[in-house]
Amino acid sequence: MRLILLGPPGAGKGTQAQRLVERHEIVQLSTGDMLRAAVAAGTEIGLKAKAIMDAGELVPDDIVVGIIRDRIEKADARKGFILDGFPRTVGQAEALDRMLKEKGLKLDAVIEIRVDEGILLSRIEKRAGETPGGPRADDNAEALKKRLEVYKQQTAPLVDYFRSKGLLKTVDGMKGIEEVSRSIEDALGVGNAAAKG
Ligand code: AMP
Repeated sequence: MRLILLGPPGAGKGTQAQRLVERHEIVQLSTGDMLRAAVAAGTEIGLKAKAIMDAGELVPDDIVVGIIRDRIEKADARKGFILDGFPRTVGQAEALDRMLKEKGLKLDAVIEIRVDEGILLSRIEKRAGETPGGPRADDNAEALKKRLEVYKQQTAPLVDYFRSKGLLKTVDGMKGIEEVSRSIEDALGVGNAAAKG
């Protein structure tokens, strides 16, 4: 199974991705996690990305597309993957389309986790207080405001992009973790497929 999780910062993409990983034996590919690892390791990409990430802006498309291209070729991604935080621009989505076509692979679905904007700030503040080792550098009010703005301008258009391809499934992300997780499984038709054998 190959999925994309789409939603603003604080929508619960990371949490839901982890649940999907456990249930479906697929890997979670989070460009945010990979970039944070690159920053921590002080690689060339990390050095380029740090200030951009801290400001809540987007790292250039060619960098994240390159990261994903390398990562989906690894053996553990063959059974399937969940893209968490990628694509974030129409350019990235088009690059992904080309990449998958070249490899003869198809996406199964794009899950949009829809949440009210008003709840995002408090969710992220909560996450900042709970993260082991301290809050993420971009979990502060100013960077968050920028991340939400960037989401609206650059990432939200992907909802229509994937809807037009017939891939979009929208779930209500305002419910509890369990319920959102159940809605995702329903949207994927996993229950039905199992019933049909
Ligand atoms: P995330 O953990 O997904 O919230 O990502 C944290 C930060 O990493 C973002 O605010 C961006 O600066 C950068 N980032 C992660 N994924 C992407 C992407 N697909 N395109 C551009 N920048 C990204």
